[in-house]
Amino acid sequence: MYKLIDLKVGSTCNNKCVHCCAANDVRDKNLSLKKIKNKLNEFINLYKTIDLTLTGGEISMRRDFIEIMQYIEFHKKLGNIREVHLQTNGRKLSDTNKLESTIGVVDYYLIALHGHNSDIHDKITGVQGSFDETVSTFKQLVNRVNAAQIAVQTVINKLNYKYLVDTYKFAHEELGVTEFNLTFPHPMGDAFDKAITPTYTDVKPYINAAMYYFISKDIKPLPEALPLCVFDSEYRKYISNINDTRFIGAVGYDQDGNLLDYLELSKEAHSKYEKCKSCLANDKCEGIWNEYVELYPNECSLPKPIVHG
Ligand code: SF4
Repeated sequence: MYKLIDLKVGSTCNNKCVHCCAANDVRDKNLSLKKIKNKLNEFINLYKTIDLTLTGGEISMRRDFIEIMQYIEFHKKLGNIREVHLQTNGRKLSDTNKLESTIGVVDYYLIALHGHNSDIHDKITGVQGSFDETVSTFKQLVNRVNAAQIAVQTVINKLNYKYLVDTYKFAHEELGVTEFNLTFPHPMGDAFDKAITPTYTDVKPYINAAMYYFISKDIKPLPEALPLCVFDSEYRKYISNINDTRFIGAVGYDQDGNLLDYLELSKEAHSKYEKCKSCLANDKCEGIWNEYVELYPNECSLPKPIVHG
């Protein structure tokens, strides 16, 4: 197993998403190119060969984005970096030169699309025209890489949860995307707000409608921060299998440059309600974000515990 490194290159972003959990991030606004190179070298010296996830903020808006790609390519050719995952809102990848610099360097693109039209998506991102730019990137990218390398990430929030199926339909049928992340927000930063983060009970029917759509299209979505009780019984086996086999361990760094083990942090970051004690999935379930329980202390915000196999 190669060490998975989560490299957050900064917190500056060209979107102002309503659900942004990094809104109060105190880390460097942007790591300089030199710091990014140093961090990569440190990780490579420590672990020899790494898998790399690039996150932000928004990395593709940087002026030195192409140089970052070139440096990663250099290490890939040396065999120091095996796989590269890019988390992006995709807007600036609509610039052909930037997109081209990722080809053969990035193995997996995780692109945020929060609605099936500009009304919803732009309202969520807070930037008019962001939908068109992101869609343009999808359209260019599907012609340059294998469809299995492109995934849509839709962060579920109060503005879009009723349109999940429309969003996935649009991404699959209009843009040709076949990979999907079904992501519940981490209620931190701007997302710590009942006007932004819905309850699990609210989203349950829409999540299951989305699952019905995915299964009908032979699509295998990846759930994030969605406990088993949110899914109808017919989808639980699939979700359990994904949860059992998925590797979520990654290493990053804090604002002082110290190493962070995300698997360890994840255990401390989750809570359960009293009613979870009666749930058949309790032993395996990692629970829900601490901040969610803080935001919604009433147990009704979680669907009923699982009492039948
Ligand atoms: S343990 Fe709690 S959060 Fe987890 S599936 Fe059961 S009821 Fe849901």
